[in-house]
Amino acid sequence: MSQRHMTSAVLDAAQRVGAPPAAPQHLVLGGSELTLVGSARVYVCGITPYDVTHLGHAATFVWADVLATVLDGTGVETRTCRNVTDVDDVLLEAARRRGAHFDELALTQEAVFDHSMRALRVATPAHQPRARYYVDAVVQLAQALLDAGAAYERDGTVWFRGADVAARSGLDRDDARARSLAYGDRPDDRAKDDPFDVPVWRPSSDGEPAWPSVWGWGRPGWHAECAAMAVAVQGASVDVLVGGEDLLFPHHAYQAAMAEAATGVRPFARAQLHVGEVRVAGHKMAKSTGNLVLVDDLLRDVAPAALRLHLLNRPYAEAWDFEPERLDESQQLLEALYAAAARPGPGDPAVALGPLRSDLDVPAAVAAALDEGGEAARRLIGVLRLG
Ligand code: ZN
Repeated sequence: MSQRHMTSAVLDAAQRVGAPPAAPQHLVLGGSELTLVGSARVYVCGITPYDVTHLGHAATFVWADVLATVLDGTGVETRTCRNVTDVDDVLLEAARRRGAHFDELALTQEAVFDHSMRALRVATPAHQPRARYYVDAVVQLAQALLDAGAAYERDGTVWFRGADVAARSGLDRDDARARSLAYGDRPDDRAKDDPFDVPVWRPSSDGEPAWPSVWGWGRPGWHAECAAMAVAVQGASVDVLVGGEDLLFPHHAYQAAMAEAATGVRPFARAQLHVGEVRVAGHKMAKSTGNLVLVDDLLRDVAPAALRLHLLNRPYAEAWDFEPERLDESQQLLEALYAAAARPGPGDPAVALGPLRSDLDVPAAVAAALDEGGEAARRLIGVLRLG
């Protein structure tokens, strides 16, 4: 790159965020102030491809997309990794119920998910590791945990010692036990030393995918898959760990604990972004309750930009109720933003983009863009991909 081009690239980055280009960049996320120098690594817990994309999933991935755009906009080179959990209990169970092969179900559902993400203008992450291709990384992780004394092997299962993970997450044991049970971690299984131990590696049952290892044929545990994929792709730690609020415990707590015990690097995640639950009439959106709102259904009647704004114009961490009649408000707000963008006058972009550095405060950014108009509104429309 010539000096002239480099200078204009740096100036462009500075203009985008209104901060001196040579300065370290600061971003508040979930109460942590992140200082970023040069680059940022983001790990997003992706889908288990066994079902269509509902609004709860979509909210997480649209917020992750905005985080990456905001980080990039500060001039920090951002590398996002969003995994696909294509070896997992819930996927195997769903395939069994449908009479389909697990790989066929995973591949078809992944294609449907990609279609929904494209429709919502979510950028394709730089890395999309699939668990099935990272089994060797899980075997390495298991051996590292055994070597560190953080795991033990019994009858073909490598158990991670998780007795202190609940306490480190700030949960009391009863609450943690209920959540472990809900996410398939079987706290009552007597084969392990402690109710909070979880499998890094486990034997496969008949008809399940299986790989060879020194502990016998088996497959990775869910939390271990994400720990291994994150370390393999992003290194021993990440700047931001992203996922739905329900992943906080046990999934992210164990992912971090395993990565830290194996690598010795702490913390695994410098900051975390957990997206609040999307509910219907006060209930979590879930297949079991039959209240799923599907992205593809909504996009038949609503413009993708209006749906994105509907997901984003709120504090990301708060749970909220989806009310279809309120989509019109987001459509009107979007039109107001377009009208503001069309107003003459410069409009200072920093006024509209500044609030995004403060815990991705989209409502404040939108209010500022409406007020400031012109270039400020145009830049915000670009950063939130509402154009
Ligand atoms: Zn994960």
